[in-house]
Amino acid sequence: MAEPAYVAEPCPTCGKPAAERFRPFCSGRCKDVDLHRWFSGAYAIPAEESAEDSVQERDANEKEGS
Ligand SMILES: [Zn+2]
Repeated sequence: MAEPAYVAEPCPTCGKPAAERFRPFCSGRCKDVDLHRWFSGAYAIPAEESAEDSVQERDANEKEGS
């Protein structure tokens, strides 16, 4: 059985064929760009979830106090 040839997938950042060393990106620079993009999105989450967390923390503290 012949091994399938390595097919370079397009870089998610710029669309160039990915380099095996930086898969799935074509270069370390494109990897950084995608990473920054991902972090920007993660930090853009509204504060609603953390507000719920603090309410739960308050309940737990009250139980501990009594
Ligand atoms: Zn690229």
